[in-house]
Amino acid sequence: MPQALVHYHELALKGRNRGLFQQRLIQNLQNSLRKTDVTEIKSLPGRIRITFQHETAWESVQDRIRHTFGVANYSLAGSLPIDYASPDTTPLCQAIEAAIRLHTFETFRVTTKRGDKRFARTSVELNREIGAYLCRATGKRVSLGAPDVTVGVEVVDYTAYFSLCKHPGPGGLPTGSSGNVVCLISGGIDSPVAAYRMMKRGCRAIFVHFHGRPYLSRVSEEKVRDLVSHLTSYQLKARLYLVPFGEMQRDIVVHTPEPLRVVLYRRMMLRIAERLAERERCWGVVTGDSLGQVASQTAENLRSISEAAHLPILRPLIGMDKIEITNEAQQIGTFDTSIEPDQDCCTLFVPPHPNTRSRIDEVRQAERLLPVEEMVKAGTDAAELVEFAFGTMPSC
Ligand code: ATP
Ligand code: MG
Repeated sequence: MPQALVHYHELALKGRNRGLFQQRLIQNLQNSLRKTDVTEIKSLPGRIRITFQHETAWESVQDRIRHTFGVANYSLAGSLPIDYASPDTTPLCQAIEAAIRLHTFETFRVTTKRGDKRFARTSVELNREIGAYLCRATGKRVSLGAPDVTVGVEVVDYTAYFSLCKHPGPGGLPTGSSGNVVCLISGGIDSPVAAYRMMKRGCRAIFVHFHGRPYLSRVSEEKVRDLVSHLTSYQLKARLYLVPFGEMQRDIVVHTPEPLRVVLYRRMMLRIAERLAERERCWGVVTGDSLGQVASQTAENLRSISEAAHLPILRPLIGMDKIEITNEAQQIGTFDTSIEPDQDCCTLFVPPHPNTRSRIDEVRQAERLLPVEEMVKAGTDAAELVEFAFGTMPSC
């Protein structure tokens, strides 16, 4: 039966936690591959082996592997049992030759990893032996620098595995290994990238979106649903809270000084997000802020905004510029949805000259004019929950 070998990087560095991380990665792969024809997922020393029934399923299997955080790289692999004490490498060389003949190539190299030092040859010896055999059999040349094909050989668990193409995985840490976080998602370019970055570090994301209804249309919500649905392919399940914010913004506009509005909107958003974070056992709140990008993201305003929160505010994009964020959005696949025109609630009642250097004392003073606790409770109570499961339609 066809097999794939999955490798992880950072997990190997995690000392005593390594077992736990590995177990979680295996569990996540099991969940992710449930609807494919995978028959076994097995932990081998330093790697994971995935066995599936038909080679034709490889596309769907690798699509799921590519969406599983913690996977550094993976490859489709052939395998043969091998005797550790007196290894006869001829059958292995023949199997590799048969596989490599299916490729068009001029140069190759062999890279062996001995997962088990009891094996009676060193990696270098095996590289030379297989390399010499392939040169003789195919007439092709070895190139260590930039070969057309790299033959990967791994000896582990009394088996020699070989592969001809190693693919990069998404990297990071397995989903769930870093707890839950609330991600503020706006439908713009930045916030989905921020969420992705924290998800990649092992966080399970719970999404919160503030919408401007009844003053604005549903477009931003629809975009956010699409974005969350897309990101769900990395964590299989996701929850999105849709919080009505239009009335709240109107109250802020009516009662507080115009230049502080943007900061006050954000502080209110954070407070509501924190209540939802508590409900969902989250340890932090993620935003797509990038220093100095817009008025709400100056150093002074970020400080005034953060002051309203108790949980850590995580801003993974803080040191990135728009071009870097845009490139990442394109790689992740959120860019096209993000740039669809919408009406985000942030565009509602925006002052022409927002204060870019708010002071905490003036912000606090302005908030005394608002029934903050009542507003936070009303916003939290009105939040509508939408649940997403990978491969199915979201349900309210
Ligand atoms: P984005 O591209 O993520 O919309 P932006 O550059 O437009 O970011 P802002 O509008 O100032 O910047 O928003 C900063 C951050 O505040 C966003 O990245 C997001 O995390 C959060 N945020 C803004 N608007 C909303 C909203 N309507 N719902 C939820 N979170 C929001
Ligand atoms: Mg925005």
